[in-house]
Parts: sequence; C-alpha cells; structure tokens
Amino acid sequence: MVEPAPPNARLLVDRSALVHNWQVFARASGAAACGAAIKADGYGLGAPGVAAALIAAGCRDLFVAHWHEVAALEQALEPWPDQVRVAVLHGVGPAEMAQALASRAVPVLVTAAQVAAWKSTGRPADVMVDTGINRLGLTLVEARSGLLDGLAIDTLHSHLACSEDPGHPLNAWQRAAFADVAAVVPARRHALANSAGIGMGEGFRFDLTRPGIGIYGGGPAPGAEPLRDVAGIAARIIQCRDIAGGDAVGYGATFVAERPTRIAVVALGYADGYPRSLSNRGWAVVDGRRCPLVGRVSMDMSCFDVTDAAPVAEGDWLTIGFDLAETAAAAGRTEYELLTGLGDRYARVYT
Ligand SMILES: *Cc1c(COP(=O)(O)O)cnc(C)c1O
Repeated sequence: MVEPAPPNARLLVDRSALVHNWQVFARASGAAACGAAIKADGYGLGAPGVAAALIAAGCRDLFVAHWHEVAALEQALEPWPDQVRVAVLHGVGPAEMAQALASRAVPVLVTAAQVAAWKSTGRPADVMVDTGINRLGLTLVEARSGLLDGLAIDTLHSHLACSEDPGHPLNAWQRAAFADVAAVVPARRHALANSAGIGMGEGFRFDLTRPGIGIYGGGPAPGAEPLRDVAGIAARIIQCRDIAGGDAVGYGATFVAERPTRIAVVALGYADGYPRSLSNRGWAVVDGRRCPLVGRVSMDMSCFDVTDAAPVAEGDWLTIGFDLAETAAAAGRTEYELLTGLGDRYARVYT
C-alpha cells in the first residue's frame, strides 16, 4: 500500500494565538473559571488540536454540541486528564444514553424529559435554563417547578440572545432572570457568558464563562488587549498561466484581463469553505504584497493575479488572505460561518 499524498490545501492553526486569546478571556473572566466552546470541530480548526492546546494552557471546561464530537475527543485526549470536564450542550436523547453512560462527558440537560431520564441514572449533570433566547433549555417555570429536585447539578447554564449588542435591554433582563433562578436552584456553579458576554461586566460572569468565537480571534476583545487571528490558509499552486489582455478567467468569464497577466491557479475552492462570494474579492499574499483573486471561486480552485508579485511557480504554496474580520466582511458571512464552514479537506497544520 502506498501512503496517500497529503492535501494541497493547508489550514494553519496558530496555537500561540489561540492560547493568547483564551488567556485574554480567562483574565477578563476575573474570579470566574474560563472554559471554551469547541463545538463544530473547534469552530472548524480541529477540536482535538484546539482542546490539547487549551488544556495545556489551563482550560478545564470544554463544550461540544453532539455526542459524536465527544467520541473524537475521547480518542484524542487519551488519557483524558482528570480535571478536564467536557459538557454536551444538546443534552442527551434516548439514542445517546448508552454512549453518555459509558463516557466521562456530561450532558447539559435541556428538556424536562431529559431531566427525568437522567435522574434515574443517579449521576450529576449540567442543566440549561432558557432566560429569553427561547431556543434550548428548561423554561424558567420548569426550572422552579421542582422537576430538578433530586438532581445533582454541577453547572446551571443559561445563554444570552443579544450579547453582540451590549446595549440591548434583553441582556440585563436575562442576567436578572438568571440570578433569580440561580438563587433557588442549587448548583455547584452558574454560567451565563459567551465571548461577548464576558465583556459586559462582572455581573454577567458568575462562576464559569463559555467563550467560543473570541478564542478563535473573532468578535470584539473583552478589554483593551487585542485578539489575534488563529486560522490561516495556504494552497498549492497547481498551474501558472500567462494570459493576454482581453482574455477572461473562470466560470462566467467574470474577470477580463486589461493587460498581459500571470495567473496562479491554486487548489482551494468553495468545497473547502472558501466562500464563492469571494469571487473577484479575495486575495493572496506574496512577500507582503496582495494579489487579487480574479474570476469566480470554483468548487476546487481559485485564480490569483500574481503579475506584480515576486515570482511564484507551480508547486509553490500560496498564502491566502484570511484575516478573519476582513475576510468575513468581504465574503458577506459572519466570522462564525466562515470558520465553521472550512470543512475537513485540509491538512491541518498546528504551528
Ligand atoms: C456556542 C456557544 C457559546 C460560545 O459562544 P461564542 O459567541 O462563540 O462565544 C457559549 N455558550 C453556548 C451555550 C453556546 O452554544
């Protein structure tokens, strides 16, 4: 058997930037412990690699959405450090009970039925109470109804609907509602804030915070210390071609060269989560100089105008512009969508 060749697109994950960002949120969390949301495969960057770096930095609480995400982590975290807690935000359904009982991860119970089923196991769990996002979790009425009696709650959670808009009145309303329910539902810890919530003041931090996007370099920093970009992309040049003025590039002939132009064709397309909306908008970087993406982004390829760049050749790796805020804005996507859409066709390289 011949080893398969490595992919021609690389997702570069800057571990020191990841750890820097987590530490910024950990400091901003004050007396509260700082966890990390690593759902959606660590926001597209590889949950096992992200988890290992954050655990080494001192993070002890990790959050995923699905039980199948736990399986990948359990393999990667072998042996699973004693103090590390993984909580599953979707709770546990009947089809997931067997895996949950065999796992050290704990569900964040979200419905009355889940609470009833889990109570019969006699094990502790986390609980999500919905204070106004009206998406996932027990209602305030359910949480106060006594249905949680007899359950050992490790962490009682709630989640903000409008943290991206700190001035929105729902934030203060949710904080107050959560503090009220926390006063009557006994739990070892209480947790409300995502990345943006951590910057909203001490009253939002309770005992544990759950930053996600900020750790990966997105959204506003919680204080004066800036966040760093974590993700980069490099793609192999699979062909260079010289075209004449008047020649078009790519599907739809949406780019027409105004002069003799050198095109580098790289192995990166929308199937890699590099958005098609970056057609004629994206860029690559050669020796600090931006080289514009020309024509449409295809499924597996994109073309860059390298006429004015230092010479590049077939087989070279091209650095693709992926500054998170700027790329998301250029693509018309949120930073969350951009990162979680990256997919698994890359060779992930942790630097
Ligand atoms: C995804 C998620 C987070 C992290 O949110 P960010 O906005 O990425 O910081 C925190 N808590 C819950 C319940 C989540 O689902």
